Amino acid sequence: MSQSKRLRIAIQKSGRLSKESQQLLKSCGVKFNVNEQRLIAHADNMPIDLLRVRDDDIPGLVMDGVVDLGIIGENVLEEEQIERQTLNKPSACTKLRELDFGACRLSLAVPNEFEYKDATSLEGLRIATSYPNLLRRFMQEKGINYSDCMLKGSVEVAPRAGLSDGICDLVSTGATLEANGLYETEVIYRSMACIIQSNEDQTPEKQALIDKILSRMNGVIRARESKYILLHAPTETLDQIVALLPGAENPTVLPLNDDTNRVAIHAVSSEDLFWDTMEELTALGASSILVMPIEKMMG
Ligand code: ATP
Ligand code: MG
Repeated sequence: MSQSKRLRIAIQKSGRLSKESQQLLKSCGVKFNVNEQRLIAHADNMPIDLLRVRDDDIPGLVMDGVVDLGIIGENVLEEEQIERQTLNKPSACTKLRELDFGACRLSLAVPNEFEYKDATSLEGLRIATSYPNLLRRFMQEKGINYSDCMLKGSVEVAPRAGLSDGICDLVSTGATLEANGLYETEVIYRSMACIIQSNEDQTPEKQALIDKILSRMNGVIRARESKYILLHAPTETLDQIVALLPGAENPTVLPLNDDTNRVAIHAVSSEDLFWDTMEELTALGASSILVMPIEKMMG
């Protein structure tokens, strides 16, 4: 259905995924300005239009082929997929890759005074949730009877308001649960943001643009996860030092002026270096350690 020559990408208008979705596209070289009042933002330098919508609408827009790509939480994608399968509506799309933001988990939680042993403790309870399909799948797998109370927001206050016995809601730090006198008992789904593509046939031009964006995204995410590391190391502990740098098996080793006992190491590490590792490096005689962010990476 997406007849437009321009590639359409749906992103969340405002919420937990919107800033990072925009930032990721900008890091991939897509230039655009968002007008808060407008649904569509046109990219200036590529044939791309961004559709800014409620996150709940994104999977459906992609599955119906109204837009070509969407950036969405896996939790919302999976919930919509089950919903549409139940209703016999088109539910297919392709997950191109998981992204490096939007981490959260969908969990069951009950009031602090509730004595929870295992999932069977939930038998016969009423659970408030915005994710009735993911909840049903979990409860069916465990063979537990329950009733649900569908709430689009403020799920965490439902037990205190007498609307439900427990909740099934998204958690990242757990602070909201704690503030509402609830504790987490089961994680039923772990989620990250992801980018999805419609299964409609694409013109070769549009598919080439999708491939280009995806390849740039891979580079941006790999660069964000990696660090450029420079240090001086005694030649005798060189191997041990290299072994401490994650993913830097083949570092560049350079001689130092007027010092034959020490070398300079340049390496790209696939992970950030934690203080613990820095301390282990210095214990092995490493000095002048610099850990630097990498802006772009390809190949
Ligand atoms: P919209 O108005 O677009 O419908 P929303 O209120 O449904 O927004 P947000 O709260 O902005 O959604 O969350 C969007 C997504 O962010 C979630 O579906 C989830 O994938 C992810 N997320 C990450 N951490 C959390 C968290 N702690 N709580 C809720 N969502 C989180
Ligand atoms: Mg939503």
